[in-house]
Amino acid sequence: MTRLIEPQPGILDITLYQGGASHVQGVDNVIKLSSNENPFGAPESAKTAFAKAAHNLHRYPNTDHTALRTAIAEVHGLDASRVICGVGSDEIITFLCQAYAGVGDEVIYTEHGFSMYKISARAAGATPICVPEHERVVNVDAILAACNENTKLIFIANPANPTGTMIGQREIARLASEIPSHTLLVLDGAYAEFVEGFDGGAALVEARDNVVMTRTFSKIYGLGGVRVGWGYGPQEIIDVLNRVRGPFNLSEPQLAAAEAAVKDRDWVEKCREDNTRLRAWLAEALMELGIPSDTSCANFILARFLNEEEAGACDEFLKENGIIVRRVSGYGLPNCLRITVGDEASCRRVAHTIGRFREAQVGV
Ligand SMILES: *Cc1c(COP(=O)(O)O)cnc(C)c1O
Repeated sequence: MTRLIEPQPGILDITLYQGGASHVQGVDNVIKLSSNENPFGAPESAKTAFAKAAHNLHRYPNTDHTALRTAIAEVHGLDASRVICGVGSDEIITFLCQAYAGVGDEVIYTEHGFSMYKISARAAGATPICVPEHERVVNVDAILAACNENTKLIFIANPANPTGTMIGQREIARLASEIPSHTLLVLDGAYAEFVEGFDGGAALVEARDNVVMTRTFSKIYGLGGVRVGWGYGPQEIIDVLNRVRGPFNLSEPQLAAAEAAVKDRDWVEKCREDNTRLRAWLAEALMELGIPSDTSCANFILARFLNEEEAGACDEFLKENGIIVRRVSGYGLPNCLRITVGDEASCRRVAHTIGRFREAQVGV
């Protein structure tokens, strides 16, 4: 029989997103360092707010997210009317592609860029265009060279995942000022809170009409399981995104937990300081074992091994010893492992275990 029921163009080209594993068969006491989650969990303030919201599960949630948007705007010094909240920042990325890119349009992402950019571009029927990086760092000139009359969106994570590298505000500003006038630049600030004093690109959004910033509650706020993210941009663009946003995209427990978390500035500060200290310790410990990494600006380290075989063998060894990290071959980094910065005990355990892997390698 001829098949007449067909999905929209691009859908069958989507490669499914690979989440970080969380179990190892036959191993107890596993530590999961594969999804860049906060090792300390969610703040108590957010858990309390989430539990309290359970009293109203029969009520439809608020549709305009005023309380959460106001809290975000106050904390970051932004205009609340230009904040949009979504089911993770993934949903903001989806809205952007849905609203601004379709069949025949191009969406630029970079060589080792986050996989959701490509997935969302294809889901919208657009063509994802992969632009080379320079030594695992986003290259503005390469992006500019790839722009043409069909380029609708450019996605850059700064700091980037899975490389952990960052480019300077001047480079980002140059990119924003030199892209075509029909192109929107999206700055994904999922890891912005880990960089002290960094605004994630908010000032550039304010200064221009072609830049949108996305942020998430999944990383430093420890709410990955709750699924809340937000975007900030020019009013006309946010108004467009709100037209494709479902009116009840976020539930009341989600809204309540995120609002409590964003107001919990002591928590954010503490988590950033712990991350900075433990990240430096872990990078140094790996370096001493002969495993280099680029200076990371996020809550993970991209450990570089000699080759794909060695990275794979180390991953297996870690797994056998109850430690789950992330292989990043799908990101064009087959010789690397991405290791989330855990709490102190986890950092010590992962470094110690990689040390044992090294010893086994040289046959001591
Ligand atoms: C984790 C991550 C996100 C966040 O996704 P959510 O949908 O908000 O959980 C966005 N961008 C990058 C680069 C990430 O690593």
